[in-house]
Amino acid sequence: MNKLMKNFHSWLKIQIPLLKFTALSTLCYGVLVVSLNYAHFPIGRFIDIFPVLAHWLLITISAGVIIYLLALNRWVYTLLFPLFMIATGIIGYYIFQYDITINTAVIESTFNTNNSEVMSQISLRLTLYVVILTVVSVWLVRRRKKIATPPWVIGYLPVILLGFFLISTINQLRFNTIYQRNPFCIYLGFKNYFAEQTELKKERKDITDGAECRIDTLTVVVVIGEALRADHVSLNGYPRETFPHLAQENVISFKNIYSEWTHTLKSIPHILTRADSANHAPSTDEHSFISIFKACNFTAWWLGNQDLNKVFKPFALECDTFIINQPFKSDYNFTGKYDEELLPYLDKALQLPNPRKLIIFHQVGSHWYYPSYYPPSFEYFKPVLKSKSFNLSDKDKIINAYDNSARYTDYVLWQIIERLRNRKSVLIYLSDHGELLGEEGKWIHAQDTKYEKNPACMVWFSDSYRKIYPDKVQAAEQNKNKRFRSDFLFHSVLDAAEIQSPYRQDKLSIFQN
Ligand SMILES: [Zn+2]
Repeated sequence: MNKLMKNFHSWLKIQIPLLKFTALSTLCYGVLVVSLNYAHFPIGRFIDIFPVLAHWLLITISAGVIIYLLALNRWVYTLLFPLFMIATGIIGYYIFQYDITINTAVIESTFNTNNSEVMSQISLRLTLYVVILTVVSVWLVRRRKKIATPPWVIGYLPVILLGFFLISTINQLRFNTIYQRNPFCIYLGFKNYFAEQTELKKERKDITDGAECRIDTLTVVVVIGEALRADHVSLNGYPRETFPHLAQENVISFKNIYSEWTHTLKSIPHILTRADSANHAPSTDEHSFISIFKACNFTAWWLGNQDLNKVFKPFALECDTFIINQPFKSDYNFTGKYDEELLPYLDKALQLPNPRKLIIFHQVGSHWYYPSYYPPSFEYFKPVLKSKSFNLSDKDKIINAYDNSARYTDYVLWQIIERLRNRKSVLIYLSDHGELLGEEGKWIHAQDTKYEKNPACMVWFSDSYRKIYPDKVQAAEQNKNKRFRSDFLFHSVLDAAEIQSPYRQDKLSIFQN
């Protein structure tokens, strides 16, 4: 027992100067680099500073585990700490200046272009910041040299393992709360990038055999919405006017669509492929309806306002062209990324000479944090949430912001309809899932509750389409209150375009009686 105490005592004696030094290094790092993560965090009230401070502390302490690992050896620290500080500091600068993070698009652009948009903008401010980081790093390196390098003791390993175990557990429990932020975003970015590369190499089953189309001129727009609940759409009886523009249009709203999935990454592959609740495999192993349209000589475009990733990218690549709005911004940045920014690209796609067009319009819609995704002029229901952190007493403000995002979707859909009005065209809107708005004390989505399983869905036909296919329009009218699983989309979109395929099941189409 005595020997054990003695060992512990000598271990502590070595640890204390090292831990003190690690704390100093970590503090400098936290102030100079980690703080930049919060440059664009919405903070409305003084009290909201505290959750941000707590998060800063979490990221700083987590970074401290890496710094401790480096500080174990004075030479390792001398060589690697300044590099770590400056490299992640530069990333922090881009977060501060442009609100962009390391995501797969940034990595791809860095790999694939000689003078990427991101790296080419070196300013005086950045130079000054790097000088400060260098001076502080050199000062710390000199201090580290004054501490004796302790011999490798087995006692270090538990400290490091425990540190990384805690980081990974907290991160998992809180939806990537640590890995989304600098310096850990480097790890997450590369992890996603390599996962995407592996996924893209995978051979998917071709489902174009037997595809045939009888229509020679048609524009089909499929809008994949985000987190919009059917019961917050005024067309379905919601008392607030969330859809004033579409109320003036001949829109058929389907209010009883059921989505088995409550998060984007699961629901979208199920919407685009012929996967259903009994057979999930096609969502990962097969091409989507886009490839069938292409086999029928449709020109296909993917216009996205959400990051591509290993889940969506295979589908975007089935298209002839894909455009991602502000690709260097992740969906967790807080400076606006508005769906209407895709409309100029829609105009371009509509000008193409091919009379058969398929356009997938992937919105950011009602993605959390809602006020980031509609322009300030769309703040119709007031007051709204001004801080990312919130509590139950903010419920009304959150719902106001959410309903504003619904009103903005109404505007964007109306803008699309304006562009389609004089064409033979059909627009199908389906949200990927619903959203929790405080039910059972829960918020946002991906929590597998019934509140998230009734997404909004609408269909609009142009007059010339209505004239040629009155049966489909009539069937849609008759089906609008029926319950469909979101599996309907694959079969219905083929049906809307008069595409015959052995994979199409008419009993799942909303355009059939
Ligand atoms: Zn989603």
